[in-house]
Amino acid sequence: MEIEKLENFDGHKLVSFIYDSQSGLKGYITIHRGNLKFPAFGATRIWNYKSSYDSLVDTLRLSKTMSYKAALGGLKCGGAKAALIVDPSRVNNRKGLLRAYAAKVNLLGGFFITGADVGVEREDVKVMRQYSPYFVGVDTDPVKFTGLGLYFSIMTCLKEVYGREDIGQRSFAIQGLGKVGQELLKLIYPTAGRITVCDIDGNKVREVKKKYPKVRVVGKEEIYQEKVDVYSPNALSNCLNRKNVNKIAAGIVVGGANCQLENNTIGEKLHSRGILYAPDYVVNAGGLISVFDEYQNGNHKTQRVIKKVIKIKDTLALILANSKKDKKPPFLIANKMAEKMFNHIL
Ligand code: NAD
Repeated sequence: MEIEKLENFDGHKLVSFIYDSQSGLKGYITIHRGNLKFPAFGATRIWNYKSSYDSLVDTLRLSKTMSYKAALGGLKCGGAKAALIVDPSRVNNRKGLLRAYAAKVNLLGGFFITGADVGVEREDVKVMRQYSPYFVGVDTDPVKFTGLGLYFSIMTCLKEVYGREDIGQRSFAIQGLGKVGQELLKLIYPTAGRITVCDIDGNKVREVKKKYPKVRVVGKEEIYQEKVDVYSPNALSNCLNRKNVNKIAAGIVVGGANCQLENNTIGEKLHSRGILYAPDYVVNAGGLISVFDEYQNGNHKTQRVIKKVIKIKDTLALILANSKKDKKPPFLIANKMAEKMFNHIL
């Protein structure tokens, strides 16, 4: 495979394959931008990828997105990502796997700083931190701040489309009931109107239904067709794609998932259909902002982080205003702003 010819390769600084036969560790760590002065940040994903190729392509793209996220979050770091190819239900010695992975992260000597993404819990990060100083999200709980940034972004989008930022009585469809999806649900449940949810994991669905009895559960092929004010994707990459772009029935798409657009054409199509798609890496930057703050300060202070996360609102409002002025989709405006920053610094 010629990695440099892959569509998602963008002059990445490092693409490393990691493997340990004893623990079953296999995956990639990719670093898009960063150097020893500005380390590369990006969380680690554990997912049952169909192939190494799928994992590599996803990691290349996710790491690039992290550079955009850092730039517009005002953070002096580059973007990175790790994906471990593991069927979570088949790992019989999770601690062994985590320890082997932490040892690989140590080999990068602080060039790569990481934490929890899909399939990784904060408890796992705490375990890995015992073996490596390059794990963040131990003092801070990034999910809380991802959720908060998302909540602020939803308000900004509601104001833009419906003239009022009030969540009250607005209808929502939430795809993915993992850490971020459930955090968002917790925040909107007391005031929102109708809420529809879905997850491919039946246990998550049962847990949520018990905790939030008013939610309505639908299947994974129905969620994006819900006629709601806000569709919030909080699962995996490419959830907005050529198969469903014409079926999306929400006025606004704003969610925590990374790399939601299968490609730029999908974003342009949403825009031409009059659907406001808020750039994923802008609205979900709260988690990164919180772990970068922990890394910089060596501790966690909630108020200090909230002051930084609330700035997502201003950044998004600026992007939406420029989108209107230039008659271009918000994601293209955001990309341009970010590229100017990270290509200049890193
Ligand atoms: P998680 O592993 O806790 O949850 C992901 C959930 O999505 C799981 O419950 C899984 O079963 C579900 N899922 C997968 N495919 C699905 C599908 N097709 N339909 C419905 N549900 C599906 O992961 P998370 O940490 O909540 O992350 C979710 C998304 O948010 C990811 O894209 C991640 O990169 C992004 N994100 C997370 C954070 C964070 O702080 N954890 C920060 C920024 C962005």
